[in-house]
Amino acid sequence: MTAPFSADRPVLVLYAGGTLGMVASPRGLAAGGNMNARLRSALATLPPTRQARLPAFVVKETDEPIDSSAATAMDWQRLGHTIAKALPDYAGVVVLHGTDTLAWTAASLAYQLQGLDRPVIVTGAMRPLEAQYSDALANVELALRFATEPRLQEVSVAFADKLFRGVRTRKRHSEASDAFASPNYPLLGERVGDDTVIYPARGLEAQQRGAPRFELPDYAALAAGGVARIVLWPGIQAWQLATWLEDNRVQGALLEVWGGGNAPEDPALLGVLAKATGEGKLLAAVTQCPHGGIAIGQYAAGLGLAEAGVLSGDAMTPEAALTKLVHLLAQPLDERERKRRFLTALVGER
Ligand code: ASP
Repeated sequence: MTAPFSADRPVLVLYAGGTLGMVASPRGLAAGGNMNARLRSALATLPPTRQARLPAFVVKETDEPIDSSAATAMDWQRLGHTIAKALPDYAGVVVLHGTDTLAWTAASLAYQLQGLDRPVIVTGAMRPLEAQYSDALANVELALRFATEPRLQEVSVAFADKLFRGVRTRKRHSEASDAFASPNYPLLGERVGDDTVIYPARGLEAQQRGAPRFELPDYAALAAGGVARIVLWPGIQAWQLATWLEDNRVQGALLEVWGGGNAPEDPALLGVLAKATGEGKLLAAVTQCPHGGIAIGQYAAGLGLAEAGVLSGDAMTPEAALTKLVHLLAQPLDERERKRRFLTALVGER
């Protein structure tokens, strides 16, 4: 980021795929193309006073817009690189993305674009732009309005009148327009009447942004199944865990454990975890509960996790914890440094 922030530059709107730009096809909704013309004609239907509050923008599409259910770490990487390269020429970036894995991409971008000095806003829609009662236009308008806000120096998610920290966001509803939430962190901003407001004290700029220090490692090795996500269930067996963790391709795993950080006190199961961490695999835990965090070791039932070398993910979302494992494992760091960084808040994720 050589050129300092300037609100005089346009906003880059990057369509990566998702319902927002989809049109009906014989196989169901599929990427529709022609986003520049379609977005401009939709925005032209807004009342003139609202159109006047929109910044100038340039629309681009990724090479192959996808349904975000097909996204992999390589898509996160490509987006990170595209944004990092484009950023000096723009006041901010709006990424239009499918809602299904939007929170994963937003979290990954936050780790890749550390020290961001301008807004990168991810949004999408539950209904296509041209559909009746679509939420697409409102979400695009909201994202564009936030995209030139100089105090917004992080990756955020704009959706249904709200602005969330990207690395704290989750998709919480499969049908409602109000589909996203940030369970353990307050809003960064919101729409109030015809205005958009931000709460600067909650933003990274005020907390820990620091100097731009983009980290754009190659995720290729991890994209081939290097990090697993394992949700515990009552009755889970050691052999089932071993099936995942003893595979050489698995370099790290996120465990979703119970309540405040508990797992079965099964020596065989804990033994599988200890063996994996002993081999240098990076294991971390978060709670299965929709809200709150974990404190491993509060109960005897959780102490085993700590003794097995499992790191506490605190109140991180599964999306934030798993993308962080990918990000750390993709870099040439030693095991101690990986663990240290996992336990440190890099971009307000914990
Ligand atoms: N399946 C779509 C996607 O994630 C859903 C959406 O965009 O809302 O790309």
